Amino acid sequence: MTKSFGCQDVGVDCNWTTTADSEEEMMEKIKEHAKNHHGFSEIPSDLAEKIKNAIKDR
Ligand SMILES: [Zn+2]
Repeated sequence: MTKSFGCQDVGVDCNWTTTADSEEEMMEKIKEHAKNHHGFSEIPSDLAEKIKNAIKDR
């Protein structure tokens, strides 16, 4: 099953989207993007929770 996520899913004004095969892989990709493009050294746990809820299966 492929999972998909985009910054807009958590209300961030950014049109980046990504897909991954697992939630772990997805979180790695999101961390990388958040760091490189949004200046997060780490994703705060409340945001991580939001992201997990926003990840869609497709
Ligand atoms: Zn983004």
